[in-house]
Amino acid sequence: MSELKFCQGPECHMHKTKDRIKGTQGNKTYQTRRRSNFYYGNGNFCDQRCLYDWINKYIEQGLDHFGRTTQAKHLTEHNAWYKDYNWDSSYTTRSYIMRNDITNEQRPLTEEQFDDTNYTINTGE
Ligand SMILES: [Zn+2]
Repeated sequence: MSELKFCQGPECHMHKTKDRIKGTQGNKTYQTRRRSNFYYGNGNFCDQRCLYDWINKYIEQGLDHFGRTTQAKHLTEHNAWYKDYNWDSSYTTRSYIMRNDITNEQRPLTEEQFDDTNYTINTGE
């Protein structure tokens, strides 16, 4: 049996749904949801409301901590490479390529390079 984890929504116990009512007769309370798996926010939140509760409460601290975007970022020919593939005419074999979104240039790629999530030829952010 997988371990149960709590929803990380700071107000989860404040959302009054029947499934959150726990406890014995006379001692019932609304409680934070606890499940083996959640589907929101990388598996940390029981629903979108709890995810947004967390975001609304912590977003300023998060932006201050990890750094705010203070100027426009640019997609240039130096960082516009992305992985793609082409099918042969009979749709049996894929050939892997790097394609540049700005220049439309294509460069061949091995399957190993294609599968390597760290592989890139981009040279800037
Ligand atoms: Zn929740």
